[in-house]
Amino acid sequence: MERGGLIMDDKATLKMKAADGSAVEVPLTWTHTLVIGSGAAGLNAAVQLRANGVEDVRILTEGLEMGTSINTGSDKQTYYKLSLCGEDADSPVELARMYYGNGGMHGDLALVEASLSPRAFLNLVNMGVPFPRDAYGQFIGYKTDHDPRQRATSIGPYTSREMCRALIREVKRLNIAVEEGRHVVELIVLPDASGSGRRAAGALAIGDDGRLRAYGAENIVFATGGPGGLYKTSVYPDVHVGGIGLALMAGAQARNLAESQYGMASTKFRWNVSGTYMQVAPRFISTAADGVSDEKEFLTDYFETAGEMNSMVFLKGYQWPFDSRKVAGGSSIVDICVYMETALKGRRVFLDFRRNPTDFSFETLSDEAREYLEKSKALQATPIERLRAMNPGAIELYLDHGIDVTREPLEIAVCAQHNNGGLAGTHWWESVNVRRLFPVGEVNGSHGVYRPGGSALNSGQVAGFRAAEYIANRCKDWTVSRDAARDALSWQGERVLAWLDRCRSATASWQDEREAFQQRMSRDGAHIRVRAGLEKAVAEAWDQWARLDTAGCRYAGAEDMKEALRNRHLCFAHAVYLEAVLAAVRDGVGSRGSAIVVDPAGTPVHDRLGPEWRVAPEDAAFREKVMETEILADGKVKTAWTPRKPIPESDLWFETAWARFRQGAIYDD
Ligand SMILES: Cc1cc2nc3c(=O)[nH]c(=O)nc-3n(C[C@H](O)[C@H](O)[C@H](O)COP(=O)(O)OP(=O)(O)OC[C@H]3O[C@@H](n4cnc5c(N)ncnc54)[C@H](O)[C@@H]3O)c2cc1C
Repeated sequence: MERGGLIMDDKATLKMKAADGSAVEVPLTWTHTLVIGSGAAGLNAAVQLRANGVEDVRILTEGLEMGTSINTGSDKQTYYKLSLCGEDADSPVELARMYYGNGGMHGDLALVEASLSPRAFLNLVNMGVPFPRDAYGQFIGYKTDHDPRQRATSIGPYTSREMCRALIREVKRLNIAVEEGRHVVELIVLPDASGSGRRAAGALAIGDDGRLRAYGAENIVFATGGPGGLYKTSVYPDVHVGGIGLALMAGAQARNLAESQYGMASTKFRWNVSGTYMQVAPRFISTAADGVSDEKEFLTDYFETAGEMNSMVFLKGYQWPFDSRKVAGGSSIVDICVYMETALKGRRVFLDFRRNPTDFSFETLSDEAREYLEKSKALQATPIERLRAMNPGAIELYLDHGIDVTREPLEIAVCAQHNNGGLAGTHWWESVNVRRLFPVGEVNGSHGVYRPGGSALNSGQVAGFRAAEYIANRCKDWTVSRDAARDALSWQGERVLAWLDRCRSATASWQDEREAFQQRMSRDGAHIRVRAGLEKAVAEAWDQWARLDTAGCRYAGAEDMKEALRNRHLCFAHAVYLEAVLAAVRDGVGSRGSAIVVDPAGTPVHDRLGPEWRVAPEDAAFREKVMETEILADGKVKTAWTPRKPIPESDLWFETAWARFRQGAIYDD
């Protein structure tokens, strides 16, 4: 069958052998461009593929209601873009310099994310996402973290959810094929035509019904989101585990895996406790593991006065992410205290809005905190009354999720929120070492050490434009060897079936295995990094992977089968992430971004913390480099530092640039 210049196959089946020798028929679907994942990034990639004339597009997803974008938000969820308001003069290069200036990011990616920002943003506006504007059509903005300008915008707590809803409407309007309830368990990568490189060729997925399905493809847009399932303490929505491990297992190169963002969040319902939750100065309490006994206002041990303590808590309102630069004498000390209670002492930490912290008084607050509360008319007697005055929606939000913060304390922890790193892509978002694989969204590691708040959503949208344009102009012809793809789908499918069979006699359940690697990541691979702990964690991680790969993990029924299969790629991914974090510590990067390196040779951070709390300073030379991580054919993990690319100087003379565009030469750069 031919459509839109693209050859399409009728549905077929693959015959595979199950572990007991019986034959299994697995449906095989060929699609020109398969989009795996339906978050904001994957959905836009599908829409842009159609806009670029690629007709045969299929979205494979766990579900349209799954993933981070449609299930998360924050106080004022931010979208970052080029300034489009007032006299705030801005330009692609100016914005690119901002990205680049944060360190560890390639200049070409910075320029692309900046250049396409207005296009991506206005596309959302045109699809009906109600970004605020004034009577004259200007898109008003505000300042976000790590940026001095007013480039940020928001539609409220659920910006990314509304983006998804608009994009889903568009996907439906365009009649793009969507298969929900599909859990990709293997990526198919083959030698490419040159014989020296590799290319994507398909995927295997388990359906909600527990049946295996095979997909052959010319291109794969890989949009599986951030690595939420790797951590025990995580503010990624609990339905979202991510899928980067699938690509790592298939040999795709990664970049800046060690750069992530962490911060305090509630754990029963996962939500960042930023903004007004902190500005009202709640009481921080910890209890024994039962959540009730031995209650203690633990923060008071770490501050000279109640005024100093409450002022730091106030600052956490707009200094949400844990920041290595704000540990000594700054607000990130609060995150360390919470970490010590939970991760080191095994206690539980809660925010209590019902009562003031001991010795609280407005007079002892810093000028900044007191004036803010005065101006906000938030001088009520208790934190909950101040919260009600400043942001009643903040109370309702928890009520909607069964938590009444007017009556009960809110459990929190320092949680993983975002991975700045991910898979390594070109400036057309094609994997640097697996051709025809296009990682987009959070799974693409385009960012460096810091990133302006809101830039994750911009990056995910920009990615869809880039991948779609490149596919339409350079990857439209069918080049994949269908026989080779069928063979690989068959043997990898049989491997999956054999693994599932081994799971029957496994001793550990999938829950036990998940708990083990999540605990390890939150303890050793998150915001507090210690070399000895990491060395042990890396060894344990590979031991766990070897055991899991050989023996499987116990599961019951089709619903659990997908969880068992997720453990395979999650466990593999956590070992690779730990390797990357260890390499960063061992190579002397020091404390930077949202992580500190605890080192006996470092500098003490706080006179009230124990002597072990000495922190390695950052070696700024690493800001000029990018960390690359690759899994070699023998299974070893190689990490290397490469100098980052500068912001490119493009030929901007109209006549010559136009000629290059007409000739399609821009796709060769
Ligand atoms: C609490 C919180 C607050 C945030 N606030 C902001 C903010 O203010 N501004 C900002 O820019 N960013 C923010 N972020 C980050 C941002 O929300 C994410 O980076 C972004 O939504 C990721 O979009 P995505 O499309 O890449 O992935 P997702 O939205 O996570 O989508 C991934 C998709 O892949 C699917 N999938 C995954 N694995 C598989 C598989 N094996 N098989 C099939 N399908 C699969 C999922 O079901 C889902 O459909 C925040 C994140 C969190 C957690």
